[in-house]
Amino acid sequence: MWISSFLAILLQVSLSAQEPTQTSPTKRNYSEVKPPNIILLIGDGMGLSQMSSALFYGEQSPNYERFPVVGLSKTSSSSHKITDSAAGATAFSAGTKTYNGAIGMGADSTAVPTLLEDLAQQNWRTGLIATSSITHATPASFYAHVKLRKQEFEIAEQLLTAPVHFFAGGGIRYFSNRLDERNLLQEAEAYRLRIDTNALHPRKWNSKDRYGYLLAKGGMPRMLDGRGDFLTAATQMAFSYFDNFGQDPFFLMVEGSQVDWGGHANDGEYLTTEMLDFDQAIGAALDYAEKDGNTLVIVTADHECGGFALVSEEIDVPFQGSRRDYDSLRFSFTSGGHSATMVPVLAYGPGAEKFSGIYENTAIYAKIKAILAEH
Ligand SMILES: [Zn+2]
Repeated sequence: MWISSFLAILLQVSLSAQEPTQTSPTKRNYSEVKPPNIILLIGDGMGLSQMSSALFYGEQSPNYERFPVVGLSKTSSSSHKITDSAAGATAFSAGTKTYNGAIGMGADSTAVPTLLEDLAQQNWRTGLIATSSITHATPASFYAHVKLRKQEFEIAEQLLTAPVHFFAGGGIRYFSNRLDERNLLQEAEAYRLRIDTNALHPRKWNSKDRYGYLLAKGGMPRMLDGRGDFLTAATQMAFSYFDNFGQDPFFLMVEGSQVDWGGHANDGEYLTTEMLDFDQAIGAALDYAEKDGNTLVIVTADHECGGFALVSEEIDVPFQGSRRDYDSLRFSFTSGGHSATMVPVLAYGPGAEKFSGIYENTAIYAKIKAILAEH
């Protein structure tokens, strides 16, 4: 009896002696394994109304409703109250406010190191996926450094040597049949960059090689023109690539590029089909993160586009004029360009709680850095 209570006391003492060094189980798991993988999903031109369209035009609840943390991002650039996608993406990729048109350049037109480049140097694997050309403003801002976004031929050259291990999107025209007669698709081989221009064929992933999929001359086709499940399939293929090197953390950026183009075109059907497609990719990222347990997923936008709203139809009532039918929606646009409205930020996974609140777009970069500094 005496011995057993003595043992019990001993056990208690030794347990409480351990306590100060113990952290919560989740925290311990995260930090013992490796830093969290980062998946940044950017809905280009995706404001709250664009997101809301998925509530009314999708077949099931949007995947973005699965996020526990929501914030708002202020999107102005250093040069304009209304940003473009280049300055918007550079705010995420390099944490700096810059002028509209700048790709991986600061406001003084000098190159700024990007998160993707920093992480690759620390042996992370990196990936970029877009439904635009891979040389377009958003993906380019993670690996290229040029003064103006329209320098897509130069951006393509920079991709040859950039530390991007996996990419998928359009943009063949910037790589072959160029005015300078260089064929970057052939040159890529010298950099162990294997580019497929036919389809998302899976490969036998080799640790020393890099992999690219360029599946359209310019931007990828619209959903309305039969793009199919490219965005989600490419995202899942990136996961299969990363999983092959499971010991390395990864950074993946996935862009629903054409939500923006639907806004510019003031075409509600174009916009909503692109939004629903982007939401599918969000679902694939969340599925992966839920299974993995050590992946941070962030969904945001660079800016809103179109001044888009879902408004009520006006119905003519005989002898009474008209009335608004709050149960029938129609698309309304107030602009053919971007707007200055704040955009949502959603987060899931280790460090996600840091993304609640209202902050500048550059803070998204800073928050990612802060989360990685804890590991
Ligand atoms: Zn735009």
